[in-house]
Amino acid sequence: MDYVFTSSIVGSGMQSIVVSYNITCQWGIKLLSRINAPSMPDSLHLPALTSLDLFVPKFHLPAHTPKCHAPFSFNFACGVGRTDGEGVERNWSILNGIASSVSMMGPGGRWDTIDDFCNFANWRKTAILRMSLHLLFIIYP
Ligand SMILES: [Zn+2]
Repeated sequence: MDYVFTSSIVGSGMQSIVVSYNITCQWGIKLLSRINAPSMPDSLHLPALTSLDLFVPKFHLPAHTPKCHAPFSFNFACGVGRTDGEGVERNWSILNGIASSVSMMGPGGRWDTIDDFCNFANWRKTAILRMSLHLLFIIYP
């Protein structure tokens, strides 16, 4: 998990990274020391100036113990607006619809089909964001 995570953010140039993960209160324990450990390739170490903030999605947080509520709540975080951190969960509404089809496929076809649907969901989200920004500039030039 650490390797996949750092591989996805390395070279992004982002100075601030906000992670929304259902079990970040457990996964995040000593995360920085694991990422920057000698056993991890140097190219995957987190740059010193990059901040990493970990939160639990709002729907999932009440299922955690009270000691998790404040430290991992989006409600008390700066710079995240009113996000609920549940964005990735919304893909299930699309993926559940193809479950019966992909269950009959071989591993390669299943992987490609799910990948196509996830790519479509990402494209649609990006297109909507760009369209929203464009409308924002039209309304508030
Ligand atoms: Zn927790």
